[in-house]
Amino acid sequence: MSNNKTSHNNIDPVTASSTQAVNRHPATEQRIEFRELPISPAHQSAKLSKKTPLALGQIHIREQKGRFQRIRTATNSLLVILFFLLPFISYQGNQAILFNLSEQQFIFFGTTLWPQDFTVLAWVFIAAAFLLFFTTVFWGRVWCGYLCPQTAWTFMYVWIETRLEGNQNKRIALDKAPWTRQKIVKRVAKHIAWGLTALLTGCAFIAYFVPARELYSDIFSLEASFWVTTWVWFFAICTYLNAGWMREQMCLHCCPYSRFQSVMFDANTKTVTYDANRGESRGARKRKQETELGDCVDCHLCVDVCPTGIDIRNGLQYECINCGACVDACNQTMEKFGYQKNLISYVSENSLKGKSQPIFTSLKFIGYGLSALIMLVVIGVDMANKSDIQLNVLRDRQNLYRETAQSQIENSYTLKIRNKTQQTRQYRLSIDKPQLMLVGNAELVIKPGEQLDYPVTLKTDIDQLMSTRTAIIFSVTDINQTDSRVSQQSNFFGPL
Ligand code: SF4
Ligand code: SF4
Repeated sequence: MSNNKTSHNNIDPVTASSTQAVNRHPATEQRIEFRELPISPAHQSAKLSKKTPLALGQIHIREQKGRFQRIRTATNSLLVILFFLLPFISYQGNQAILFNLSEQQFIFFGTTLWPQDFTVLAWVFIAAAFLLFFTTVFWGRVWCGYLCPQTAWTFMYVWIETRLEGNQNKRIALDKAPWTRQKIVKRVAKHIAWGLTALLTGCAFIAYFVPARELYSDIFSLEASFWVTTWVWFFAICTYLNAGWMREQMCLHCCPYSRFQSVMFDANTKTVTYDANRGESRGARKRKQETELGDCVDCHLCVDVCPTGIDIRNGLQYECINCGACVDACNQTMEKFGYQKNLISYVSENSLKGKSQPIFTSLKFIGYGLSALIMLVVIGVDMANKSDIQLNVLRDRQNLYRETAQSQIENSYTLKIRNKTQQTRQYRLSIDKPQLMLVGNAELVIKPGEQLDYPVTLKTDIDQLMSTRTAIIFSVTDINQTDSRVSQQSNFFGPL
């Protein structure tokens, strides 16, 4: 028996076709083209495992340990911890991250973005999209497997389920068991735990929109407003249904990313792939038993651990979120049987062909990388040019100018000045034309986030005027931070 058939030089993964492709979503598969698994003659004659996840009804994921599961647990845990903790971080006396919808502000570590600054957020979303594409070209759907909240919460709910109902086999048995007292207790405990997790998730999400400290105490003391309570419960119910019941159905039917992922893939993209040339013909055997079969011992572990319930041995499928659970499961089996690891692995089409083409030569990799870099530069420039003061100068619409008894000409304006910071600030008002005098106080104090409508009058002696219209520039400077300054042009009118 040869259990180490690793040569792939004669295989063309693109042109080879699999006779075992799963066809659960024919309408979608017509629209999306996926690379198919390289097939050896042995593979073509191999039989599909009869024990498919669909036969089990609801998918019960088997817990798996291993290198990729440790990485996934670490990234998912970090994501969940950050999600819950970030609203509690304070910066300069305020919640560090807060979308204050009632005040129409987005506060991010001392920087306040107003609706007119939301171009920055648009750049951030575009940059995030390009970064995602950039990562996908190299590592496939690594976002789905390791960082997507849907995956993180699903695995969290499965973890709770496993602690309360037992391992995969016990959960399947419990599903089929009659409604005894023990089953009711286990199910009630699970749904209470899921419900509490969902409620905390709802609170954590709304804490990005409502100050976190008050929110939690108001929700649990039933003193929150109607709308806050409604939104918390709305997101709690969504979480409960999503992570508890829908799980992989979200990835399969609702997430648009799974549908256009193949557009981003190229021959260098690493995806979770079953090495059919080495694994087929699959078949059960005893350890150390001599056999002509391939390395796949048909233990079904790769299917049992799959959160989307697919059999990766059927080739690349859009349901695969690249979580690596099947890689760990198969490596565990390979180790037990003394076979070489990585019958299932993260591997690219070029690697399977035995070609080593550096990823840096991929046009998609370069294109998405450059786009992401440009977007990051745009965000940096946009943020650097963002002023903490907003100024709008409105001329008096009633009178173009007024002539006083002392032969002076007056023009009136209303300055709308907004303090866009989260601290009270002191400002100085100035005009660029020395012949124009400002009537009234030139120093102003404005509270955080407030807009001051400040009436201003400018006057000058009539003989100082050179024309009927003089272009002027109003400036507002932060007295304590003179580099924080904003200006706007207007006109001063006089008689002919
Ligand atoms: S096939 Fe493997 S990598 Fe893909 S979703 Fe299933 S377990 Fe995860
Ligand atoms: S885990 Fe590996 S050996 Fe077991 S069925 Fe899957 S591919 Fe075959």
